[in-house]
Amino acid sequence: MSLLDSTERTSARTLWRGGRVLSPTHPAATALLTDGDRIAWIGDETDAPAAGRTVDLEGGLAAPAFVDSHVHLTGTGAALIGLHLAGLPSAAVVLERVDSFAASLPADGIVLAHGWDETAWDDPAPLTSEALGKAAGGRLAYLSRTCGHTGVAAPRLLAEHPELAALDGYDPSGLLTRAAHRAARATLNAAVPLSQRLAIAQAGLTHAASLGIAAIAEMAIPNDADPLTEAEFSGLVKLGREPGNPAVYGWWGELRATEKARDLGAHGSGGDLSADGSLGARTAFLRTPYADEDTLGAQYLTASDVAAHLRDAHRFGLSAAFHAIGDGAIAAVLDGLDRVEAEIGLDAVRHARHRIEHAELLDAQLIARMVHHGVHASVQPAFDAAWGGPDGMYAARLGRDRALAANPLSRLAGVGVPLAFGSDSPVTALDPWGGVRAAVRHWNPVSRLPMAAAFAAATRGGWRALGIDDSGSLVPNTRANFTVWDLTGTGLPDLSDPDAPEPECRLTVAEGSLVYTRA
Ligand SMILES: [Zn+2]
Repeated sequence: MSLLDSTERTSARTLWRGGRVLSPTHPAATALLTDGDRIAWIGDETDAPAAGRTVDLEGGLAAPAFVDSHVHLTGTGAALIGLHLAGLPSAAVVLERVDSFAASLPADGIVLAHGWDETAWDDPAPLTSEALGKAAGGRLAYLSRTCGHTGVAAPRLLAEHPELAALDGYDPSGLLTRAAHRAARATLNAAVPLSQRLAIAQAGLTHAASLGIAAIAEMAIPNDADPLTEAEFSGLVKLGREPGNPAVYGWWGELRATEKARDLGAHGSGGDLSADGSLGARTAFLRTPYADEDTLGAQYLTASDVAAHLRDAHRFGLSAAFHAIGDGAIAAVLDGLDRVEAEIGLDAVRHARHRIEHAELLDAQLIARMVHHGVHASVQPAFDAAWGGPDGMYAARLGRDRALAANPLSRLAGVGVPLAFGSDSPVTALDPWGGVRAAVRHWNPVSRLPMAAAFAAATRGGWRALGIDDSGSLVPNTRANFTVWDLTGTGLPDLSDPDAPEPECRLTVAEGSLVYTRA
């Protein structure tokens, strides 16, 4: 090896020293060395190989980085940096906010916001179309009221979309209701330019990095009414390849469209490909009726749809994932897996690591069938924290017993269903420690996971559910995805203690590059 070679080798290396490393192979380590995107060495820093760069961990704990296994990135960013009108005291203040928000947009940017409520204003002056158009700097603009059934359109929106005038609920003043309101919102949603969408998504990704997340699974929902839905998806996947960002693994939620998904840059086929709906809307598909309405919910995919999607996924070599919340929907997915197993064999099915997203209502038999097919469960413990328990929304929909049996995390893990945690952000916030806490403090004590198992599901489990086996544990010769936490103890905090604070993130490393460092 020439001197030049070894100098180049050294300069690609970074020594992260002066902390502790949560490593199964090197429990006493104080340092780790990364070489490009890999962990090359872990140990006592006095033995460390030469490196071109050194980063002081200042006593913090380096641990495997989080993976959020179910995210809607653009919606996540919009919740963070979008224009929010709820609680504002007058039309004048609403217009001030619109003015400063619009100033941050390019000329072709769209102003689309929600939440104004004139009943809470201390000044009776109404929000007018003219004033909105001016505040938005002449951009296309629509502000919907808090109720979600009416809104105010800027003059340019009315002028450029004369078809709105033919709809029920249209008013030339620009105050729209009913069909005209819905059409105005849908029109503007689809008109948000790609650059604006990706800037919004970038805000979500930057926030994820600050929470110790090194990778997310983007669960795209195709929308025929939106001409940019495919370009947006490909753009999100590309954002995740930029060295300063967490990785983005895209799932394209269209039935039997694996070839297209692959061409768009997808990692997986399906994802939020809905076998059913949600418990809140009583559209999760159940085998026994809801407690508060005589319905089984909605079945969006039959077993033969699922089998057809699986065949398509196998043909083009991607894993498949299905959104299935109710036991009826989960049974339909498993029935589809049975059919495909009969055609291509169990090994091929298991090898593909198909996923069920949400997997909230399932009994021992369904769990056993998931084990049989090697299906990974991509679950959201924060759903249980928000809606579970004896008196929550799930109890209203399902009755107390079924609500307490929902999200049986320990039962799944106990028999070998691999778990991956996610937030479904913006449905619940990006908050990986919050998800871990929700899992160790499940409403139902028998469903609680131990701390180490919950942390593994929020880290390693996310990689496994992506088919990636060389990440998620800090050991040499694996991908360098780690987070350094303000933790002075010897290991992870015990979040089953309600008073234990969630650790603060100092820095996040994704595929060897620093994606977040605390100022
Ligand atoms: Zn989702």
